[in-house]
Amino acid sequence: MSQTSQAQTSKPPGQGRPGQGRPGQGRPGQGRPGQGRPGQGRPGGRPGQGRPRRERKPIVEPEWIPKTILGKKVASGEISSMEEILSQGLRIQEAGIIKKLVPDLETKVFDVGIIQKMTPNGQSTSFKALVAAGNKNGWLGIGMGKSKQMRVAIEKANNAAYINVSPIKLGCGSWECRCDQKHSVPFKVKGKGGSVTIEILPGPRGLGLVAGGKIRDLLQLAGLKDAWTTAKGSTATMNSTSKALLNCLRQTFSQG
Ligand SMILES: [Zn+2]
Repeated sequence: MSQTSQAQTSKPPGQGRPGQGRPGQGRPGQGRPGQGRPGQGRPGGRPGQGRPRRERKPIVEPEWIPKTILGKKVASGEISSMEEILSQGLRIQEAGIIKKLVPDLETKVFDVGIIQKMTPNGQSTSFKALVAAGNKNGWLGIGMGKSKQMRVAIEKANNAAYINVSPIKLGCGSWECRCDQKHSVPFKVKGKGGSVTIEILPGPRGLGLVAGGKIRDLLQLAGLKDAWTTAKGSTATMNSTSKALLNCLRQTFSQG
């Protein structure tokens, strides 16, 4: 009897504990995922690499939702050409406007670089990208983007290039050719960006683009087929070179 009574007496407090233990178990229950997190945290312990990889997967071009008044007018069809916008001197702040009005634009990443800075915490690395957008028929824009992630830098540059798109007057200013086709510049143009000065001279049909690799690519994207070019200054600095080139090509309008 004494053994059973001890067993009985021992049980009630034993049952009492689980009664208290339920909330108590609740805590360990919360504690388990808490233990689980450090378990996930070990792969997450390589987090710097793991997180951007996860972000990279869902790259879906979101549908354009216009934010500015101009954007809404373009989306609704009230404004239907770039000429309308440019003649009114309106400022384009959304890439979607350009994408809609000049639908055959293609973009090209033509320069990427790493920016390294010393900070009190050590070295910080970020990326910059230069992107050109053109339709090979008189429209060209160049944009730059910077970010800690290469992909974001390119995205920003893409956006900037679209917004930057402006018309270029093509023509034939060559005395050797004198045709009416739009294969060159209508006259000699000169532009400056930073230390770089670029000059574009009209050339006869069949000449091709007489220019260095990246300048040639950009001229091609703008729609030029034949031209002579000269470039002075540190043309390896693509930032300046692209600015000079755009300034140069925009001259085709200011003079014509
Ligand atoms: Zn010609």
